[in-house]
Amino acid sequence: MAYGKVTDRELESIRGIVGSERMSMGESILDLHGKDESFHRKRRPEVVIWPLHAQEIGEILKIANERRIPVTPWGAGTSLEGNPIPVEGGIVLDLQRMNHILSLMEEDLQVCVEAGVIYKELNQYLSRYGLFFPPDPGAAATIGGMVGNNASGIRTIKYGATKDFVLNMTIVLPSGEIVRAGSNAIKSSSGYDLCRLFVGSEGTLGVITEITLRLVGLPAEFMAAVVQFNSIREATDAVSQIMRSGLRPAALEFLDIPTVQVVNRYKNLSLEETPTLFIEFHGISGEGLKEDLEWVKEICAEHRYLRFDSGIGREQRNRLWEARYEVHDSIKVNHPGLSPLVIDTAVPISKYPDIVDWGQKVLKKRGLKGYAFGHAGSGNLHMEIMGIPEEEAQWQKVLEAGEEIVSFALECGGTATGEHGIGIGKRKFMKREHGDSLKLMKQIKDLLDPNGIMNPGKIFE
Ligand SMILES: Cc1cc2nc3c(=O)[nH]c(=O)nc-3n(C[C@H](O)[C@H](O)[C@H](O)COP(=O)(O)OP(=O)(O)OC[C@H]3O[C@@H](n4cnc5c(N)ncnc54)[C@H](O)[C@@H]3O)c2cc1C
Repeated sequence: MAYGKVTDRELESIRGIVGSERMSMGESILDLHGKDESFHRKRRPEVVIWPLHAQEIGEILKIANERRIPVTPWGAGTSLEGNPIPVEGGIVLDLQRMNHILSLMEEDLQVCVEAGVIYKELNQYLSRYGLFFPPDPGAAATIGGMVGNNASGIRTIKYGATKDFVLNMTIVLPSGEIVRAGSNAIKSSSGYDLCRLFVGSEGTLGVITEITLRLVGLPAEFMAAVVQFNSIREATDAVSQIMRSGLRPAALEFLDIPTVQVVNRYKNLSLEETPTLFIEFHGISGEGLKEDLEWVKEICAEHRYLRFDSGIGREQRNRLWEARYEVHDSIKVNHPGLSPLVIDTAVPISKYPDIVDWGQKVLKKRGLKGYAFGHAGSGNLHMEIMGIPEEEAQWQKVLEAGEEIVSFALECGGTATGEHGIGIGKRKFMKREHGDSLKLMKQIKDLLDPNGIMNPGKIFE
């Protein structure tokens, strides 16, 4: 489909809507909005706009829709799959100035925010009221971007992903129409669940401007453990047993040996360089958590742990978990000039040991350098396979390794992406993962966005 360009005529109309200070065609601004945190090729938009209201977005979308100009919503650009890269140019709508917390409904455990609010700042604000929003992708993501990708992170096993927290939202459709989906009830059987349709839609169906989120109470007490094993199999078998035991960890993370090594170096730590689990529990008292701790220790002992370091309380938790954060940065710093292909498969928990094992075999067979870690408790395996995207033959090997790992995950009944979204990089797996229902997804896209202006080149090939 041929797209229209942003000409002087459109720029004049846009200026009339937002004024010249909230739009830019400056080189550095276009560059900043032409890339995310992935290896995918940069592509500059033609203009970046910072709207303040749904009405402004509606007027801009009307113009874009009439003239078939691509529009890509932008949160903080921290995606790992090229999700916000405007591959067809056009307009980027940067939502970062729509960053107000609109209302806190403390007694209902709900908050209504504009899409550009950074979730870490939201949690800082909520902590004053003893509340929090649990999905935690680590990077400085916006709520709109988290809804766009259905982000989750380390606490999904206990609390759920972003989709589990969205109660209602305001959306500007490609036609410019503003609609509201959902309600303030925490349960509802009322018709199609349109909120869930927009969660994970990666900006391909419309622009989300306001979101009401369900919240939970801040945990009163924390318990954490770092458990080190002789082999990957023992560590991952322990994961699957902990999850089957009825225990409810708030986080259960796995790091393989190269990942522990790289984190040790980057953060100047002295962890044993063996396969490692990071475990966290939330509870109402230290006493209750002690029982959980004993139980976890017993399970890990059955899998012959090498070292078991644990503690109760927030400070102990922070001490023990120091190594888990910044894994991505540790790897990046350790490989100047190289980029990672980021694997984000998720499988049923019983298959977790198999997918980790398979990933290691694929790397070995192809002689590639890679790191395996992830949100093991929710069956989510990340691997970062290192290479140079510009060196075609070598990068092809990296891509083939990625395909082999994702294919195995799909055979296990899993998914190509547990939390990063499809973006550009995972489109090739859509048919295999969804079969005939992919056609239904395309029909929904065509119904809502018949001119294909919203974030083209994503999700579908
Ligand atoms: C170091 C690092 C670690 C990470 N760890 C995790 C992790 O553990 N778990 C995890 O889930 N993710 C993780 N991520 C990925 C990333 O942070 C998330 O995908 C996050 O949700 C992206 O948010 P963002 O605000 O940067 O959105 P962007 O990257 O700007 O956009 C994301 C997508 O949503 C669309 N979008 C943005 N705003 C809107 C809107 N208002 N309306 C409609 N569509 C919109 C965009 O077009 C794009 O398709 C990590 C990233 C980094 C760099």
